[in-house]
Amino acid sequence: MSKSLQAIRGMNDILPEQTPLWRYFESTVARLLDNYGYKQIRMPIVEFTELFKRSIGEVTDIVEKEMYTFEDRNGDSLTLRPEGTAACVRAVLEHGITGGGQVQKLWYIGPMFRHERPQKGRYRQFHQIGLEVFNLDGPDIDAELIIMTWRLWGELGIRDAVKLELNSLGTSESRGRYREALVEYLSAHHDKLDEDSQRRLKTNPLRVLDTKNADTQAVLVDAPKMADYLDDESRAHFEGLKARLDAVGIPYVLNPKLVRGLDYYSKTVFEWVTDKLGAQGTVCAGGRYDGLVEQMGGKPTTGVGFAMGIERLVLMLETLEQIPEEISRQVDVYLCAFGEAAELAGLKLAERVRDQLPNLRLQVNAGAGSFKSQFKKADKSGALYALILGDDEMAQQVLGFKPLRGQGEQQSIAWDALAAHLATCVVQG
Ligand code: ATP
Ligand code: MG
Repeated sequence: MSKSLQAIRGMNDILPEQTPLWRYFESTVARLLDNYGYKQIRMPIVEFTELFKRSIGEVTDIVEKEMYTFEDRNGDSLTLRPEGTAACVRAVLEHGITGGGQVQKLWYIGPMFRHERPQKGRYRQFHQIGLEVFNLDGPDIDAELIIMTWRLWGELGIRDAVKLELNSLGTSESRGRYREALVEYLSAHHDKLDEDSQRRLKTNPLRVLDTKNADTQAVLVDAPKMADYLDDESRAHFEGLKARLDAVGIPYVLNPKLVRGLDYYSKTVFEWVTDKLGAQGTVCAGGRYDGLVEQMGGKPTTGVGFAMGIERLVLMLETLEQIPEEISRQVDVYLCAFGEAAELAGLKLAERVRDQLPNLRLQVNAGAGSFKSQFKKADKSGALYALILGDDEMAQQVLGFKPLRGQGEQQSIAWDALAAHLATCVVQG
């Protein structure tokens, strides 16, 4: 027998029983972003490989070992996007929409691809909602991004389970000075570093700071501190951010070891972390990248953004049982009709009701069946009410209206009065 076909490891189907929660999450975020004045942008899933190498940096985990890169039929090297910022910057430059200092507040949603070891909360195809703001360079906008996510956690009911970690990486000049000091210090302790950190010391020394290795962590205790190397401008920016978070009452912890995986960050970096998901604890991460647009060939244009992992946040809603009741019910009313004449009359009635109540979730029985079998399907659909159309009802031009969740007896409703009756008893979202 031939081997049955399977999905690629780390790339998941999101099944019908899961999609209501995904859609609830996505629509909650989309509404919030609309309300704060952000506009959606949609970029292709595939870009030239060069784009990611240039923006993310050659010596990052993503570019070194996580990209899905292939040659297309023209011989071009293409890559499935591992993140959204690079493509978003490419798009705004290509269309000139950040030129002359134009402010853009943009967001996107979609799948990202990284060849990582699949485990809970870590997949090879995963989904992000990301956001990028161009040409606003003050701490007020950094604060807005964080305030907005804080509101989101509140709306989702997971605020108590996440913690904000903050750091400032300074400008590229002050970071350069810090990097030198760090390399000098770590080089003097080279033998005590783990192998990975020894390698990073040469390629991307700041990343040594977020090592998980205990011996290296011990060496880091006395290492130079980034905060001591911050230039005045970065320091003032960071204070401005903290003052705004304090004003709104958002708690945070300063984490001097927070450096983020990507090369392009400057000044503010932040992560929202949780201890509810095991090792994959970061649900949203971002920061400022004032040098990136120029590095990618544009005019100097400041940027700040973040991305959140949808799988991890959906997992959190499940773990914390923050699943709103209304999303578990997909059907309001289920119409059962017995016999061909009743089926036709039912169909016409259903369409009339849909005209009048466009938000009503009305399911019409398909596949005929006995009274018992249709009734069973009505009940299983989760509907609040069944509408019944049989010979007696046809003769009297009424419908049987039967509560399925225990509220009261069956009653007869005239065809003409159906929409008005449903409007009073079905709560519409
Ligand atoms: P991590 O340290 O967990 O690998 P990262 O720093 O690589 O995360 P970012 O590139 O900042 O992650 O992506 C932003 C968010 O996207 C992460 O905080 C996380 O919620 C989510 N994310 C990143 N990689 C994955 C993945 N492989 N599977 C699921 N979600 C992911
Ligand atoms: Mg990663």
